Amino acid sequence: MRLIFLGPPGAGKGTQAKRLTDKFGIPQLSTGDMLRAAVSAGTEIGKRAKAVMDAGGLVSDDIVNQIVSERIASADCSKGFILDGYPRTVPQAKALAENMAAMNLRLDAVIELKVDEEALIRRIESRVAETLAAGGTVRSDDNPESFRKRLAEYREKTAPLSAYYSEQGELVVLDGMADVDAVTRSIETALEKASA
Ligand code: ADP
Repeated sequence: MRLIFLGPPGAGKGTQAKRLTDKFGIPQLSTGDMLRAAVSAGTEIGKRAKAVMDAGGLVSDDIVNQIVSERIASADCSKGFILDGYPRTVPQAKALAENMAAMNLRLDAVIELKVDEEALIRRIESRVAETLAAGGTVRSDDNPESFRKRLAEYREKTAPLSAYYSEQGELVVLDGMADVDAVTRSIETALEKASA
């Protein structure tokens, strides 16, 4: 099973991807998590990405394309993977298509979670509050200013991917406003249809 989750920050991509990971035994590949790990480890990529990420901008296509192409070639992705937060631009989608074609792999589905913006802002606020209450550290880009920038980047650079994947006949659009379990069920139903 090879899937892409599309949707704005806070849409629930990560939450749903984690659930499918357990169900299908395939890894969730979150470019945000990979980039944050590079920042924490202080690697060259991490150093180049940190300021852009903190401000809510997008890291360059070259960097993320490289990270993902290496990652999907690794042994634990042999049965499939769930991409969460990648591709985020049309050039990234094209690079992914080329990489997958070279590996003789095809996508099973692209699932877009639709959520209204008011709800997104509330979700991010509660993610911050819950993290703080649990004694955790809040992401350096989970502040109102960076969040607005992340939404603007989404609208401008990532939203066009809906049309791109819709033209390829791979897009499934689902309501991300329903509760978490209901969203999981609608994803499962969509995947059954896709594989039927
Ligand atoms: P969210 O979707 O909640 O905004 P992510 O964890 O997916 O958060 O991403 C955090 C940040 O990492 C993004 O704002 C961006 O700076 C960077 N990033 C993640 N994935 C990509 C990508 N595919 N292309 C460019 N930048 C990315």
